[in-house]
Amino acid sequence: MKSPGIEIKPIKQISGGANFNEVYFNDVRIPDAQRLGAVGQGWQVALTTLMNERASIGGGGGGVNFDSVFELASNINVDDQPAIKDTGVRRKLADWYVQEAGLRFTGYRSMTALSKGEIPGPENSIGKLVGAPKQQDMASFALDLLDASGIIWDEELSERAGLFQATYMASPGFRIAGGTDEIMANIIAERVLGMPQDIRVDKGIPFSEVPTSGS
Ligand SMILES: Cc1cc2nc3c(=O)[nH]c(=O)nc-3n(C[C@H](O)[C@H](O)[C@H](O)COP(=O)(O)OP(=O)(O)OC[C@H]3O[C@@H](n4cnc5c(N)ncnc54)[C@H](O)[C@@H]3O)c2cc1C
Repeated sequence: MKSPGIEIKPIKQISGGANFNEVYFNDVRIPDAQRLGAVGQGWQVALTTLMNERASIGGGGGGVNFDSVFELASNINVDDQPAIKDTGVRRKLADWYVQEAGLRFTGYRSMTALSKGEIPGPENSIGKLVGAPKQQDMASFALDLLDASGIIWDEELSERAGLFQATYMASPGFRIAGGTDEIMANIIAERVLGMPQDIRVDKGIPFSEVPTSGS
């Protein structure tokens, strides 16, 4: 990070946080002593970091989970009765419970692979494709249940110190970071289901030689 030519531009997120930056490498020379992995294996290094990100997002990453929405639905009244008594609410909760159980057991597969020194397979893509939209759905539903008070995002005043509001604002990013929903679906289609590859006009061409509108 101290090499000449590295330029860091902070990014402010819609959630209000600023957890990362745009990092530019302007003619930066990387000495061989700083190389990670074997020559020509850079994609493996990138994939390892991406897989970790996908596993963390798919695993819930500390946001809204089944228990928090279940507790909210049990304690909040809709039409003069606890929301949990409503069939529609129960159906949604049941779906999320099943999804969370599936994510937990799929996560165990990654842990098993890691504990054997293997690189986890595409199961983290499945986890992210299910987990990120689930977070967004659950946070959005929790805000609906909270009705007008859902608008208030304040550590002191909001339910669970604003967890539902914070997750709602961060969740569109979860569906993009580490690979978008569409890219996760492509990986599962190609690597898990063995379907034909996406059409790629740039396949096998170095990035610097990919034709652009300006070339
Ligand atoms: C919260 C957050 C944190 C991030 N943190 C980091 C970080 O720490 N480090 C880092 O390097 N990057 C980070 N990113 C960047 C992130 O990795 C990229 O935004 C992400 O991989 C998507 O790439 P892109 O933005 O270039 O979108 P694009 O690839 O331009 O995609 C644009 C749209 O086209 C669709 N699309 C693209 N290709 C295909 C295809 N083949 N088939 C179907 N649809 C397709 C996408 O699904 C998307 O809807 C972060 C992003 C977010 C939102």
